[in-house]
Amino acid sequence: MCLLPEDAGRLIKAGASIQVEEGLGESIAIDAGKYEAAGATVVRDRPRALAEAGLILRLHKPPLEEIAELREGVVHVSFLDPYRTPEFAAAMNDRGVSAVSLEMIPRSTLAQKMDVLSSQASLAGYAAVVLAASRLERIFPMMMTPAGTISPARVFVIGAGVAGLQAIATAKRLGARVDAFDVRPEVEEQIKSLGAKFLKVDLGGETSGTAQGYAKALTEEQLARQREAMSKQCAHSDVVIAAAQVFGRKAPVLVTSEMRRGMKAGSVIVDLAVETGGNVEGSAMDRELTLDGVLLLGHSHMARRVAVAASQMLSSNLTNFVQHFWDKTAGTFVLNLDDEILKGCLVTHKREILQERVREIVAGAGKGNA
Ligand code: NAD
Repeated sequence: MCLLPEDAGRLIKAGASIQVEEGLGESIAIDAGKYEAAGATVVRDRPRALAEAGLILRLHKPPLEEIAELREGVVHVSFLDPYRTPEFAAAMNDRGVSAVSLEMIPRSTLAQKMDVLSSQASLAGYAAVVLAASRLERIFPMMMTPAGTISPARVFVIGAGVAGLQAIATAKRLGARVDAFDVRPEVEEQIKSLGAKFLKVDLGGETSGTAQGYAKALTEEQLARQREAMSKQCAHSDVVIAAAQVFGRKAPVLVTSEMRRGMKAGSVIVDLAVETGGNVEGSAMDRELTLDGVLLLGHSHMARRVAVAASQMLSSNLTNFVQHFWDKTAGTFVLNLDDEILKGCLVTHKREILQERVREIVAGAGKGNA
């Protein structure tokens, strides 16, 4: 849910006029009265509101057929996933919409307060561990009782970006023994600072990240080395949290069926990369499967499991985004094309696709359809 009443109030105080669609907030028990009290108007007529708006804030991209109903020149802010679903960026472009893709907001210090990927990934890492702990038929902490001692659960986190680091921190707080691996060597210190062990794997060749802090895709040979080195670790683990991603590409398959078969019956794997193709062979979107005695959880949008916190963070990120571009004197949102943040995330503007890679993908898709 993308805008809480208190954040709507902040924008209204700055001079915005806000319409919210009826039902917004219902899923987290916020009723229309709260938006009205903040000064917003609650509207039922979605096509009319879409046709009138100068700026649209939403979580997901709109249905494809709805893009034709948007007003030409409107600024549309949402997740857009232009690399994997370029048809939406293409339709926004045809319609003359200025489309901002939330996942492309630069991971810079200046943009940190608008970084929706980080805020949702943190929650996903937390929720993944809590889910795994609730489904594991063992306990995370060591427990010493007169009846005997129970050793702590062993958790292995693969991919220590924002989600993985939060998963490590959560598993540690619950008392588990945590090991982790990431392909970017610079992450080792961060893993250790959370009290987890870093699994050393010699992948050979270059593995440091891109200038934006993302991992580069490994070669097939490097991936094979990685899988081999991780097999033993998976076999020892009660829980595996797989959170490895390569920005803009399909997630690498890191836990094969053979590795899963080597795991103890009753172990739990959470595939946090399921939406981008999955890190775990056999995982399926929004399915819970027991394969060879191992429970494989493939829930998408993991942050939804903590919907109030997810909405708070998203609403705050979006409000910060709007405020960054707000002209206080004129009381309007200004699309400043020279702004570094906007240069990274504005995908279409005045019927031009501004991001080179998206332009190539859209052109490629067009040829494919011809
Ligand atoms: P992500 O979701 O793209 O990837 C998750 C993790 O998977 C990354 O740590 C990546 O290195 C890892 N990975 C990729 N291939 C792997 C493989 N084969 N095996 C194991 N791990 C693999 O990344 P993210 O969580 O969005 O964060 C990316 C980086 O951006 C991080 O370094 C983060 O610190 C940085 N960041 C910086 C800022 C900022 O400066 N404001 C904000 C957010 C994130």
